[in-house]
Amino acid sequence: MASAEVTIRGAGIFGLSCAWACLQRGARVRVVDPFGVGAGSSGGVVGALAPHVPETWNDKKAFQLDSLLMAEGFWAEVAEVSGLSPGYARSGRLQPLADERAVELARGREATAAALWQGRATWQVVAASGAPWEPASPTGLLVHDTLTARMHPRQACEALAAACRVKGAEIVPEAPDEGAVIWATGAAGLEEMSRLAGRQIGVPVKGQAAVLRHDAGTVPQIFAAGVHVVPHADGTVAIGSTSERDFDGLGTDAQLDEVIAAARAAVPVLRDAEVVERWAGLRPRARSRAPMLGAWPGRPGHFIANGGFKIGFGMGPKVGQVMAELVLEGTDAIPEGFRAEALF
Ligand SMILES: Cc1cc2nc3c(=O)[nH]c(=O)nc-3n(C[C@H](O)[C@H](O)[C@H](O)COP(=O)(O)OP(=O)(O)OC[C@H]3O[C@@H](n4cnc5c(N)ncnc54)[C@H](O)[C@@H]3O)c2cc1C
Repeated sequence: MASAEVTIRGAGIFGLSCAWACLQRGARVRVVDPFGVGAGSSGGVVGALAPHVPETWNDKKAFQLDSLLMAEGFWAEVAEVSGLSPGYARSGRLQPLADERAVELARGREATAAALWQGRATWQVVAASGAPWEPASPTGLLVHDTLTARMHPRQACEALAAACRVKGAEIVPEAPDEGAVIWATGAAGLEEMSRLAGRQIGVPVKGQAAVLRHDAGTVPQIFAAGVHVVPHADGTVAIGSTSERDFDGLGTDAQLDEVIAAARAAVPVLRDAEVVERWAGLRPRARSRAPMLGAWPGRPGHFIANGGFKIGFGMGPKVGQVMAELVLEGTDAIPEGFRAEALF
């Protein structure tokens, strides 16, 4: 490849989404990651693309809605170009309603969802049908939303990386900076930026997740007892996650057993499903808890795409779009609450 117009450091979902969006705009792109594609938190297993609650609207929710609505076309194109499946399906989500108060809140959100989600997805209180793939619900009622989707994080990164290569990107372990540089280096990047800035820019938050063997088919994912239960196309169900500020290493432990037990209690059909994988990763959490996007203050030509925290996969398509617009076209469409410079 002739010299790169954009060098992207980090081959997780943020770096690869930026690469893809820059390639779509005709740029020459090189992605550099010494540890390879999906080596960080993006190499995980859960893949819930779940919206915020449809009320008290703000920039972050609007940005996420855009990204979730972009996702179907985004992942379809990635699948077509790469020939690999990212495991995407907009299969919806079921949530049990614990008591009358929860039912009342959920009914209120039926109307706000209709307005805020622009009629492109619904949020409805429905009666549990007694089907095996349902969470136990004390009220006999569930919320069913049609905006939530799932994809397979690890497979999606491989598919996106392959699609980027088809479009001419290089993905290499080492290379000097050429052109504009986007730092999408996840939790390690937040720690490095904190060190360089002499103040806390962000921290890693560990998460543990598991994969169970159970072929649920294309059914809605479930969010119950604080646990995501996500059926995947490969005959498995992912369960996640712990959220740990204090941790010692990247192993899995008894905290994950508790998450698995909660999922089995909430979704009884998983009671005897075999655990086929236990996995842990470090979520990049910016001090703002929001995505952290934009120019790197005091470093001309350098940009930051970080802070995906718990929703990095949901945010990926839109993060790629706004970063490519900023870097290649000088158009700044980054919401106020996401601006990187505010954290330095
Ligand atoms: C248990 C768990 C469950 C999760 N579940 C979901 C979910 O259901 N839905 C969702 O949307 N999100 C989920 N997330 C969050 C999501 O995984 C992250 O938000 C996302 O992966 C962050 O992507 P990233 O590209 O910013 O970082 P990463 O994926 O961590 O990528 C950073 C990359 O930078 C590389 N790197 C580091 N230093 C350098 C350097 N100096 N030069 C070049 N490269 C470097 C690393 O090798 C790594 O590949 C979950 C996370 C965890 C841990």
